[in-house]
Amino acid sequence: MEKSDIMSLDLDELKEELTLIGEKSFRAAQIYEWLHVKLVSGFDEMTNVSKQLRDKLKEKYVINVPNIEQVLESKLDGTKKYLFSFKDGSIIESVLMRYKHGNSVCISSQVGCRMGCKFCASTLDGLERNLLPSEMLGQIYAIQREIGERISNIVIMGSGEPFDNFDNFLKFIQLITCEKGLNISARNITVSTCGLVDKIRELADKKLQITLAISIHSPTDELRKEIMPIAKKYSVNEIMDACRYYYKQTGRRITFEYSLIEDVNDSEECAKALIKLVKGLNCHINLIPVNTIKERNYKHSTREYIEKFKNILENNKVNATIRRELGSDINAACGQLRKSYMEQTLRNGE
Ligand code: SAH
Repeated sequence: MEKSDIMSLDLDELKEELTLIGEKSFRAAQIYEWLHVKLVSGFDEMTNVSKQLRDKLKEKYVINVPNIEQVLESKLDGTKKYLFSFKDGSIIESVLMRYKHGNSVCISSQVGCRMGCKFCASTLDGLERNLLPSEMLGQIYAIQREIGERISNIVIMGSGEPFDNFDNFLKFIQLITCEKGLNISARNITVSTCGLVDKIRELADKKLQITLAISIHSPTDELRKEIMPIAKKYSVNEIMDACRYYYKQTGRRITFEYSLIEDVNDSEECAKALIKLVKGLNCHINLIPVNTIKERNYKHSTREYIEKFKNILENNKVNATIRRELGSDINAACGQLRKSYMEQTLRNGE
């Protein structure tokens, strides 16, 4: 019998499960605390739970904490990249960024991705599978345990499209913001999407205080279609309508990510079209020099072009920042670390 995933259960579900196996429901609170506050990776660490119950739990459940396969640490700013593996052999990556205001972790939401953005390494081999809520939590728990410090901010901006794994994403949010768990405030969570309009609206209706980041990367449908296949399904205008709706429902300022690619989307016309697009919306634009991946020949814009692009936005009262490069000595674009690791293991015939 396949064991079930205990860390994806909320407290009420855990209570129900325990009642079903003939245990008192108050045990659920203890077990929940072991899993989501004390961050154990095995049932035997639950020292106030009887051996008998621990054995029962072991038989029926699994704790989905990933294994750390590799850690790369930046000598410049302490940024750490983690390569994790799950029991089925899936490999994912997560990043720890250290800021003055606290520790932030960027997690993956899927193994691989099927969105097909041209500049992104995560999508080169397509989607392998969705991550479970527990496997999204597990990345944060493993890092918090490893560094022995609290994680206070989460960005769901690693490999995968979180809105293509929407139900698991929502459950993850419920669990990570749970008062009886790590209790991370929704205001300290950012989710990034390539623009799945229906899901943006669905999330808006939940009225959570999560920051929504949209990977816009182009102000026009024509150009966007060239670099992001999802643009064939949803137009830029539909995305903007959904963003206005998100703002109306949540009051949260929207972030737009704009990866600058030389001679593709870094012209003055693009900047002007972008200004027109976001006019009237409370938002912020994050300019990212595109990270070259070896499978594609996109180059990032020159510093001069990036500054110029930013100035055009700012002169028109559009908030913009150039993303600070963290961990540039361990730099690898989204999904690149995983990809090179997998290629290496393939070569070694493992
Ligand atoms: N699927 C989600 C989240 C994962 S990607 C999304 O599309 O938003 C996180 C961000 O990194 C996105 O803005 C994505 O477009 C960007 N990105 C991916 N590969 C990149 C690269 N090589 N250089 C710069 N940004 C990249």
